[in-house]
Amino acid sequence: MSELLPVEEALDIVLKHIPPPETEVLFIGEATGCILAEDVYSDTDKPAFDNSAMDGFAVRSEDIKEVSEESPVKLRIIGEYSAGVESSIKVEKGTAVKILTGAPLPAGADTVVPVEYTSEEEGFVFIKKPFKKGANIRLKGEDLKKGELVLSKGTELRGYEIGLLCGVNKSVVKVYRKPRVGILSTGDELLELGEASNRISQIRSSNHHMLRSLTESAGGNPYLLGIVPDDPTELLEALKKCYDYDIFITTGGVSMGDKDYVRFLAEKAGIEVKFHKLRIKPAKPVLFGTFGKKGLFFGLPGNPVSCAVAFDLLVYPAIRKMQGAQDIFKKKIKAILTEDYVRRDAKRREFARARLWFENGSLLCKPAKKQQSHMLSSYVGANSYMIIYEGVKELKKGEEVEVLLL
Ligand code: AMP
Ligand code: MG
Repeated sequence: MSELLPVEEALDIVLKHIPPPETEVLFIGEATGCILAEDVYSDTDKPAFDNSAMDGFAVRSEDIKEVSEESPVKLRIIGEYSAGVESSIKVEKGTAVKILTGAPLPAGADTVVPVEYTSEEEGFVFIKKPFKKGANIRLKGEDLKKGELVLSKGTELRGYEIGLLCGVNKSVVKVYRKPRVGILSTGDELLELGEASNRISQIRSSNHHMLRSLTESAGGNPYLLGIVPDDPTELLEALKKCYDYDIFITTGGVSMGDKDYVRFLAEKAGIEVKFHKLRIKPAKPVLFGTFGKKGLFFGLPGNPVSCAVAFDLLVYPAIRKMQGAQDIFKKKIKAILTEDYVRRDAKRREFARARLWFENGSLLCKPAKKQQSHMLSSYVGANSYMIIYEGVKELKKGEEVEVLLL
């Protein structure tokens, strides 16, 4: 198991072990980012009644057929309708009702003339422009018919879909349960946020907070389990907690150093290791295994960039799939490289942080200057990973490159 695994093979292994998503019923206010696990149908016609699309005057099209700027028609205003108001006024020949957007169309009227094409004087309105019968009216059921499918199973709920669901009075929804993701940092040198430093060799831990945020963005429910030192007893205890989660992520201690205990202890904790090293740069040491009936374990490297890249390539699709999403991968597109990119070692597939932008009709790609795996600053302004495939030592300015969108 010591040879480096191509990332596609690693991904196949991970995805193969993902259990079918479970469902739960949530209040709509808690469902943002969830994937719908039921089809939803409209409870009414939408709109439920014919209504005005403009502020103006509801009229009979017959009465305004031949009007112009020079010879407007004069109609008597017999009432005012605003949204949410109902009345039994009927528009007869020679009359009009002043109407606001969303108000029900009064009986007898079949057209709304926007206020810009009218003038009002002492209880009368002058209409200066003809409008076709039905103009500026939103018809009953033109958006959705009662019983029509509004959203189908598998749809991701963004703010737009939440709005749509509320419009059909859907207050609770059946969705796929977001996976519970436990996150643990390991390392003697790590300091928690705000913790006082008393040795020069200590560093602030970025990774567990970064992983929490990335997990949340991917659609998982993160649980921060803090930092444990490189102490086999403490680490083993912490790893045994994995059984409380669907996915368990550690960061640090997963390479081949003397204090890299994660692999050995993960196995001791009952995790069945499936792979340990990937043919990618950064993020060569990545441990993956399974535990219990359907738990997934990811031992990610401690270098923050490696940790983030490994998350994006493997954990992100795993969380997406586990929460029932249909699009589970970061999107891959093509862009034009703005400068030469040279590397010494071409054995591994590289994922370089890069910035993409549109200019003169082309999508351009500029890799960050600093690409080392301890430099999280390489993500500043980055919105993609430029992929440099195995065997490629040099990419030339102007060349088309593949990029993964962050
Ligand atoms: P390791 O994977 O434990 O060998 O760590 C590799 C490098 O990443 C070392 O320089 C560690 O200090 C650093 N590192 C490990 N864990 C973290 C973390 N949680 N946040 C930031 N850097 C870390
Ligand atoms: Mg370490």
